[in-house]
Amino acid sequence: MKVALDLEGVLANSIDYFLDQYNASRGTSYVKSDIDSWNWVPTVVGFDTFDSIVNHGWRNHSSKIQYSVENLPANLPPLIASTDLHVDIVTARTGVEESMKQWVTTAGIPYDRFVSIDTQPKPTLQYDVFIDDNPVLSQHLSSDQTQYLVSQPWNENTACDGEQVRRVPSVLSAFEQFSTWAE
Ligand SMILES: [Mg+2]
Repeated sequence: MKVALDLEGVLANSIDYFLDQYNASRGTSYVKSDIDSWNWVPTVVGFDTFDSIVNHGWRNHSSKIQYSVENLPANLPPLIASTDLHVDIVTARTGVEESMKQWVTTAGIPYDRFVSIDTQPKPTLQYDVFIDDNPVLSQHLSSDQTQYLVSQPWNENTACDGEQVRRVPSVLSAFEQFSTWAE
């Protein structure tokens, strides 16, 4: 079974880094829970502004990008290592791959390949399972693909059927549930 493990919003809390930078420069006071839909970024701040701040963060301040889950380096690597899954890190961010790889390595997260794609939907890649916070990814799944939707404020209203799209509170829960999924 091949797993596509998303980076931002699943492993890396890059949104809080973005908000810190954005608020400091614009005098705003947005918090993560304000981002209540996938359209918040393009509608409120614009994709270009978002991408440029986050890319700058990866390139120059990656140590300021926190983990999405407390104690991620202690808890996730043993869970991944306990499976025999093929796990690739698959991100839709391009241009800062070396910094992102270094961040993942520093966290001690084992993976097979690091894959960055630009505009093509992730489900066009040959993976069985996607661990991803993207609420529109499921629109592109083929019938034999499954998404573990990692809960975030921007996907809290996304419908999940509990079969093809399964909501999990964190990436840790996703890996804990793989044994059940495989039965
Ligand atoms: Mg993501």
